Amino acid sequence: MRLFDSHAHYNDRRFEEEFEGGGRGALLKAHAEGVEMICNVGSSVGTSEESVALAEEFDFVVAAVGIHPCDAQEIPAISLDAALARIEAMAAHEKVRAIGEIGYDFHYDGTNRERQEYVFAAQLEMAARLSLPVVIHSRDAAGPTFDLIAAHRENCGVLHSFSGGAELARQYCAMGWHISFSGPVTYKNANRLKEAALAVDADKLLVETDCPYLPPVPHRGEINYSGYLHHTLEAVASIRGLAPEDAAELTYQNASAFFGRTK
Ligand SMILES: [Zn+2]
Repeated sequence: MRLFDSHAHYNDRRFEEEFEGGGRGALLKAHAEGVEMICNVGSSVGTSEESVALAEEFDFVVAAVGIHPCDAQEIPAISLDAALARIEAMAAHEKVRAIGEIGYDFHYDGTNRERQEYVFAAQLEMAARLSLPVVIHSRDAAGPTFDLIAAHRENCGVLHSFSGGAELARQYCAMGWHISFSGPVTYKNANRLKEAALAVDADKLLVETDCPYLPPVPHRGEINYSGYLHHTLEAVASIRGLAPEDAAELTYQNASAFFGRTK
């Protein structure tokens, strides 16, 4: 079966602890083990540049470029628009297939919501201008994320590492959005997430690792990589009553269309 990991961070230094050759070594290992395509996702100007470099180096890697809400808070106000312009310039690259990851993260104290909203909205508008889909990060911010997306009907995208319930998943699908599931859908007590995985329209379903983070069962506590994606895929297949091969092909086709860049 062929797999498409819709969200990974092989630029992350944590790979150096466990994989010979670091992130590049982990990428090649996963590819040799049958993961046919991977989207490497940026979260800042620097990691977006690294994502483009990986996509240039490996024919089975495509890139997303963008500024994550937590990274947005680290940029001095005076440099924000220049950072956004650099993301937009990078997005012209043929192997950049989405703007992301972008969104809201209200998990930590001292969140600058105005800053996050400015950067999130600017990148939604950028993606619409460039006819690219977006990759959304949303943490402790389900309502505000939905509201901002609903106010930007010209965009399409994916809710990455989805953490909401079935009703929210249905609402996004009704707007034409994709939903991507990661390691937590394999956790024993993830009933709400399992209901969501059942509720997503078949043509909107994606799977991802978000590696090196969020390893699935039975690899919790380890450094995650795309070679573990089949555990998440198998969990989603079982929830939906599909053979793993059929779920793999479905999510592969969905991701290929999503990251296909027609323009
Ligand atoms: Zn991520």
